[in-house]
Parts: sequence; structure tokens; C-alpha cells
Amino acid sequence: MSLHVYNTLGRKKNDFVPLKQGQINFFVCGPTVYDYAHIGHGRSYVVYDVIVKYLRSLGFTVRYVQNITDVDDKIIVRAAEEKKTAKEIAEHYEKTYHEDMLALGVTAVTKYARATNYISEIINQIERLIKTGHAYLATDGVYFDISSFLEYGKLSNQKLEELKVQRIEPNPAKKNLGDFSLWKKHKQGEPSWDSQFGKGRPGWHIEDTAITETEFGSQYDVHGGGMDLIFPHHEAEIAQMEALSGKPLAKYWLHNGFLQVNGEKMSKSLKNFTTIRDSLKKFPAAALRYFFLSTHYRSPINYTDEGLRAAANAVERLNETIHLLKLVNEKNDEETHSKINDEIQSLQKKFTTAMNDDFETSRALGAVFEFVRTLNSSIATKSLDIANAREALGVLKNYNEILGVMNFKDEQLSSEQKSLIEEREVARKKKDWTLADTLRKKLLDTGILVEDAGNRSTWKRV
Ligand code: AMP
Repeated sequence: MSLHVYNTLGRKKNDFVPLKQGQINFFVCGPTVYDYAHIGHGRSYVVYDVIVKYLRSLGFTVRYVQNITDVDDKIIVRAAEEKKTAKEIAEHYEKTYHEDMLALGVTAVTKYARATNYISEIINQIERLIKTGHAYLATDGVYFDISSFLEYGKLSNQKLEELKVQRIEPNPAKKNLGDFSLWKKHKQGEPSWDSQFGKGRPGWHIEDTAITETEFGSQYDVHGGGMDLIFPHHEAEIAQMEALSGKPLAKYWLHNGFLQVNGEKMSKSLKNFTTIRDSLKKFPAAALRYFFLSTHYRSPINYTDEGLRAAANAVERLNETIHLLKLVNEKNDEETHSKINDEIQSLQKKFTTAMNDDFETSRALGAVFEFVRTLNSSIATKSLDIANAREALGVLKNYNEILGVMNFKDEQLSSEQKSLIEEREVARKKKDWTLADTLRKKLLDTGILVEDAGNRSTWKRV
């Protein structure tokens, strides 16, 4: 099955065909940097990280750009609260955002584009919108005239006539209540830039189209973000760029579902959030990724500590198999080898079919687990040899480049732990069970659990 993605524009699954063969320009709305990122943000960015890594694994060259909103009302409010400048707040939380993303293994982004680095492009876009009659100057800045773009509402499935009278920003002097801001007139103490339509700062929506027009041109392949951004944010982006270019802005619009707490979106305003950094004090990053990926990206996930604990256990089981695979030292015959090849082929088929079906990560993880269960029983019956084990490790490693839920690093034992394990092996060989037991307890005190299976003993960290 070829790759199919659900497109919010049109609300159905489409065959995925990029504008230019083999190349994908991919844009995802980044954070407004005024506070620590919470795990709802974490879900969104892990989802797009996995999608982009999967697309790259298919052989596409993906240029993935994410904006950083570093000028915004929320940043200004936070700066006033903390008696800092907006720039100081934005710089601080941009830094913590990158730290959190790195900790979560979000590494697919090609370029982070800070809005304030694109001010001249923003001004230029607004100027063109005014010239072509799509924008107008009001008392407090510049607005987009939604009645000038007849397709306004096509992404969110709303009617222009209704949107014209639906107020989205406070100024009563606008042409239509639904007109949105492109440029906000300077207010005392706020960051501002000079422009031909007065000193001020950009509205939220225009930064993204200025960035994407600069980075990709007026058209690109995929635009992603959370479902809350469909309206007005993404609708506004479409209006701004398509009014100028007359061409579709993005070919595919992807929107992730919310991470919820008791059925409500995790958000700063509802104060029901857990920051990524707090969550990482309790759970490994791999568990968070596993938790996010075990639900399809468009469906909601309900956050509970219990759910994360279950994800941490699942990750542990995967890592245990990886550890055991590294310890396999049997040399077997041809027959077992062909069996493992069949298992690998079956995994590949299931994984690709799941991911090609609008990135069904939950089913892809299920296929990995099925493979791991087969490996475990082959390890237990010693029907897996070194070559099989290496092959299986290689396959798991490849999938983990996309998923980021397993750990292939060799566990480092201290020299004390190493010599305790060696002493215990000698005691076991001599059948000195009392000494072997004592050494086992000593190892457990250092966090190493030794287990005996037949004439082999293995260890793991607990
Ligand atoms: P914001 O900084 O609030 O604009 O959010 C940045 C991105 O994270 C947007 O794409 C949001 O839709 C997404 N996001 C925020 N909260 C959640 C949540 N609880 N679950 C999933 N995605 C979220």
C-alpha cells in the first residue's frame, strides 16, 4: 500500500504525492516561547518528529521548518509579570524549549525560524496585501479583509458569510468582525519595528506565511500543527498567502489531536498541565514517546500517570529483549536462520502497512512487539543464533531511528559490579550456591539483578 495521509483540507485520506518528486517541504507551527513546554506540546512535536523520520526512511528528502513565535501578547504579559523584557523571556523559553525537545529525542527539524528574524519579509507581505486590496489600515494596525478572499473558511469548513460577522479580535472599527490582525500598532513598552504603516509588531498568523514564503516559496507540501490551530490560525495563513499567489499554500494539512486531562485539552490557560521537564523527572523520554505513539496522532489521548507507567513498562520490555539479544552466543543451523528472515519480513510488511495508513504508529508499535515476543521465545528455547540476533538487533535499531522508544546503548557496569558478576560465575561453576546467592544480593544492592537460565546467567538494571 502506498502512503496515504488524512488531509484536513477536504477531510479525507489522500495518496501522498509531493509537489516535486522525492522532495518534501514540511512546516509545523512551533511554540510561543513564554513558558516551559508541557507534555501536550510534547505530543505534537513527537508526532511530527516521527512522521518526518518515517518519510525520510522512505527515501524522501525532507526539509522540515518550524517557527518560533518570539513576539506575541503572551510573551509581553509574562515579561511585565516578571519585570523582564519580552526579548529576555523569549530567549529564555526558546532555550528551554530546545532543551526539552532534545531530551525527548525530537531531532528531525532542519531549521528553527524565529519570527523576529523575518520582520522585513513580514512587512513586505503585508505591503503586498494592502496593495492588492486584501488588507487595510485601521486605528490600531493593519487587518486582513476576509471578505476579499472568497475561499476563507475552506479549511475549517465554515461559511465566509458567517465568519464575516463572527468577532475574533476586539477592535470594533474593523470592516468585518472576523478580520484578523496583520500588524499591531506600537504600545508603550512593547517590542516594535518601523514600517511604512507605522511602528508596531506583527500579528501571529503573518509570521508563518512570511517564513514559509522565504524558506519554500508560496507553495509547499505539508503543514502540521494541533487541531486548535485549524481556525483561525491556519485559515488565516491560507488567506494571506493564497490571496497573493492564487495557488494552494500547502498540499496536505495534518492536525494532531489533543493530549487531554480528564477529557479536557492540556493547556496553560486551564492550568492542568505537566511540563516536559517535570514529567522527565518521573519517566524516561522513551516512555513519553511510547505513550504518545501508542495512540493514532489524530485521536485524543487521556493523560494519566498510570498510562505513562504502562508505557515505561513496555519500553522496559523492549530494552530487556535488546539486552538479551546482545548476550546470545549460540551458533545454530540454517533452518532457524530462514525462520528469523520470515519474521523480519513479516514485521517489515506490518510496520510499513501501518505507517502508510496515515502514520498508524500504534499498529506499527504492535508489529514491533509481536516481533519482540517471537524473539523472546526463540531466545528462551535457544533457537536463535548470533547471526539471527545481530540481524534482529539491526532491524529493531532501524525502526528505532523513527520511533525513538528503545535503548541500544551498552549498559556500563562499574568495575565493582563486573568483578562481583565474575566472582558469582566462578561460584556457580563450583556449585557454591551459598556464595552465589550472597553475591547476587550484593549485586542487587547496587541495582543489578542477576538471573540464571540454564547454564547461562544474565543481568539487568532494576
Ligand atoms: P502553542 O504554543 O500553544 O501555540 O502550541 C504549540 C503547538 O502545540 C500547537 O500545534 C498546539 O496545537 C500544540 N498543542 C498545544 N497543547 C496541546 C495538547 N494538549 N495536545 C496536543 N497538542 C497540543
